[in-house]
Amino acid sequence: MTPVDALERVVHCLDRAHDTGFKTKAFVRALETVRTLSPEELAQRAKADTLTDLDGIGDSSAKVIQQALAGGEVAYLTDLEAKTQVPITPAGAVYRDALRADLHLHSRWSDGGATIEAMARTAIDLGHEYMVLTDHSPRLTVAHGLSQERLEQQVADVAVLNEQLAPFRILTGIEVDILEDGTLDHGDAILSQLDVVVASVHNKLRMEGKAMTERMVRAVANPHVDILGHCTGRLIGKRDPSSFDPDYVFAACAQFHTAVEINCRPERLDPPRPLLQMAIEYGCFFAINSDAHATGQLEWQPRGCDRAAQMGVPLDRVLNTWPADQLLAWTCERTGG
Ligand SMILES: [Zn+2]
Ligand SMILES: [Zn+2]
Repeated sequence: MTPVDALERVVHCLDRAHDTGFKTKAFVRALETVRTLSPEELAQRAKADTLTDLDGIGDSSAKVIQQALAGGEVAYLTDLEAKTQVPITPAGAVYRDALRADLHLHSRWSDGGATIEAMARTAIDLGHEYMVLTDHSPRLTVAHGLSQERLEQQVADVAVLNEQLAPFRILTGIEVDILEDGTLDHGDAILSQLDVVVASVHNKLRMEGKAMTERMVRAVANPHVDILGHCTGRLIGKRDPSSFDPDYVFAACAQFHTAVEINCRPERLDPPRPLLQMAIEYGCFFAINSDAHATGQLEWQPRGCDRAAQMGVPLDRVLNTWPADQLLAWTCERTGG
């Protein structure tokens, strides 16, 4: 394990534990510094004990680097591996074992912290057969949403990566913003070229209920939209769910074959249980998605699996238990092409 490997793994573990504080930032900085150094300089400094003279390297990261170079156990990492495991119930494990993919995740192209390749390699390590890359759309400027040009470039890059990563597959996609009137933040031409489209509300979450219902139903009925992302927009303890009439929204999801996302982010866990129950009763499809913005966050699916098990989501209605070709056939059937 090289120092870069060790530091990357530390950051991965801190991310999966949802540590967003000082510690994670410090290790990310150390990693950036180490990446700029030659192996010779790194070895020299480790020997002379001058690693901490460098910007961004503190006592903990210096120790990780030294232990990695020594070729033995990296004690800090061993401890972290054990402490940051994402727990899962036996019932949830049945769902997790059935998952072949993650259908909502971000890369550095928008507001994610990792490259597409790093996300894909982690997905492979987690046992996935494929993943859908869903960076943000242009309206979300704070998240560096992708213009049509950048999205086309990304699709081309994914094709190259797919050749290297086969048989693993990266399906193309986007998390497209649902605009205030229920139209989408990208046109038909580009959306029809993507494999999977997740549509989410990210702004004007406090709209009056009737208008929000119309907005969501319109988006759900759009033939390009395959998955409704984090439907209530709630952030647990910080932001209440949006108001909308779930009968209309879930009936539309069932009618137009738009899956309801079970979002696994710990601050979202969206939809809340009573809404999830309604969506099951309406006969909706589902997708258990990490919405990961870092490699470690790809390990968050157990949270959604536990909820799905608890509420009795029919396993055969979970899109990401299907092989990629079955999913693609389903999305094509909907868009008619
Ligand atoms: Zn989102
Ligand atoms: Zn997202």
